[in-house]
Amino acid sequence: MKTIGLLGGMSWESSALYYRLINEAVRDRMGGLHSAKLVMASVDFAEIQLLQSAGDWTAAGQLLAEQSRGLEAAGADFIVICTNTMHKVAADIEAAVSIPLLHLADATAEAVLAANLTTVALLGTAFTMEQSFYTDRLASHGLTVIVPEEDQRAMIHRVIFEELVLGVVSDISRREYVSVIDSLHARGAQGVILGCTEIELLIGPDDTTVPVFPTTRIHAAAAVSLALA
Ligand code: GLU
Repeated sequence: MKTIGLLGGMSWESSALYYRLINEAVRDRMGGLHSAKLVMASVDFAEIQLLQSAGDWTAAGQLLAEQSRGLEAAGADFIVICTNTMHKVAADIEAAVSIPLLHLADATAEAVLAANLTTVALLGTAFTMEQSFYTDRLASHGLTVIVPEEDQRAMIHRVIFEELVLGVVSDISRREYVSVIDSLHARGAQGVILGCTEIELLIGPDDTTVPVFPTTRIHAAAAVSLALA
């Protein structure tokens, strides 16, 4: 079994989910008392959020590159960045280490294609929905990506930063998200990527008839497959 290097804390609410899902998958696949070999670097999300809102992606990239070097030194065989948004600086992380990065958008695109879908909507932070680093990576797999309208994007982003990363899960926000999912479906989305690692704390497959792709679950499963390959 390879050792997974988790770059987490963004936020810790979803990193905790990664930890549980990875260990459950290793238990299910290997049986007995098996659990995952992993090391985790967990940053202070307040520092990351300040850099995000200042648009200082250079400093954010340096900070996460340093953490990634620590994961490699601690024995990680590959790196899992436990947030969609910070894949914005994936290249800085890849340049800092000699171990591979398991890119979240690649794993997600493969899951969408495996479901025989080609047009998907993307929910996430404003950075993920509005900048090209994530949508372009999905498009490189042949997917057509639809994003919510401006007022919908603002609501999705606000709920992530004011509720979900703080562990607040509200019925009102769930209803608002489901209404956005319905409107994206009406605009032609065959499925919806939950492209922020906390959204699946709020929205599950039972909340909508539209197929959803929960990125934490998808990334954790891909990490276990790579660790056990
Ligand atoms: N975890 C979130 C994501 O997957 C948002 C937190 C962040 O900005 O890193 O994008």
